[in-house]
Amino acid sequence: MAVAGFKRILVTGGAGFLGAGLCARLVAEGHDVICLDNFFTSQKSNVAHLLAQPNFELIRHDITQPIWLEVDQIYNLACPAAPGHYQYNPIKTMKTSVLGAIHVLGMAKRCRAKVLQASTSEVYGDPEVHPQPESYRGAVNPIGPRACYDEGKRAAETLFFDYHRCHGINIRVVRIFNTYGPGMHPFDGRVVSNFIMQALHGKPLTIYGDGSQTRSFCYLDDLLEGLVRMMNGPDDFVGPVNLGNPREFTILELAQLVLRLTGSSSILEYRPLPADDPAQRRPDITLARQRLGWEPKVPLEEGLARTIEWFRNIDLRRYRPPTPNLTPA
Ligand code: NAD
Ligand code: UDP
Repeated sequence: MAVAGFKRILVTGGAGFLGAGLCARLVAEGHDVICLDNFFTSQKSNVAHLLAQPNFELIRHDITQPIWLEVDQIYNLACPAAPGHYQYNPIKTMKTSVLGAIHVLGMAKRCRAKVLQASTSEVYGDPEVHPQPESYRGAVNPIGPRACYDEGKRAAETLFFDYHRCHGINIRVVRIFNTYGPGMHPFDGRVVSNFIMQALHGKPLTIYGDGSQTRSFCYLDDLLEGLVRMMNGPDDFVGPVNLGNPREFTILELAQLVLRLTGSSSILEYRPLPADDPAQRRPDITLARQRLGWEPKVPLEEGLARTIEWFRNIDLRRYRPPTPNLTPA
């Protein structure tokens, strides 16, 4: 139900993993929420429970095309995020980031809306600075298989800052580090969903490379809290700001934790390391702590236990692999 002070909020990519969680939160807070999605890596059922709410609206639309809406805030999340998905049609991925940014920024300009860009730790590429502060400019291979995503997100950041400087648009840019939790697509090919699916179904856990590469995993609820704080924070703090969990794990450690928490006896199977796979990744979240009073609260073990429970109970017939090059684990 709407409360005093509610806002009209557009969430692009609102049916995806982060988007669906964000929409649910904003609807519960009483805002008037528009979820826009082309369902490339998601499905309507992710937000079906919100459809009966009078303050929720769902639009099937591709953000590479302009759209005319009247809103107060925009969370721009539309973009495939799993490597297998964004590499499936790399030109479309780049278009989604660049044209999507142009369209939401144009809308923000017309409506005087505030607009937040979901950027990524991938703007740091395969980083030579560790952990990564926002001041680090990154080491992205501009012609590699990850470039469609990394460079698309970098170009989107450029557009956000140029609209901010040229037109005074009220922007926010967050750089999201690996996030996991209930609602992930079971066939998205990301490491957390892959390992849990494999462990629960007695299949080998696929370790790419020797498993010594690191990631830092942030639980969904923590990340959403960071997004909302950034959107509603002071106008003189536009970012970019890192949002992620600073505890770092090797992929091998993650596999062992998933095996322990699921009680699975799956074996480990080593596969070649994909090209340009970052060797290490950990956010420096000093800025988010100082300016947003934000830091993650949910430890990996606890977040994984909740995620595993969710994966145990989903009906896999509801999900299709978004791209033909990804087969179910
Ligand atoms: P996701 O794939 O689950 O969600 C993305 C959503 O965008 C999907 O619903 C998809 O159908 C939609 N979409 C894709 N292309 C679109 C288009 N052209 N028009 C309209 N909708 C489109 O991924 P996610 O994990 O929820 O990520 C959401 C955002 O956060 C993405 O922009 C991603 O780059 C960013 N991000 C996520 C992570 C993470 O770990 N989850 C890390 C860094 C950045
Ligand atoms: N990975 C893995 N096995 C899998 C999926 C991924 O070892 O089944 C590795 C991948 O090579 C990378 C890390 O796990 O080093 C994180 O991969 P993910 O696709 O989740 O996200 P990334 O951070 O690479 O975008």
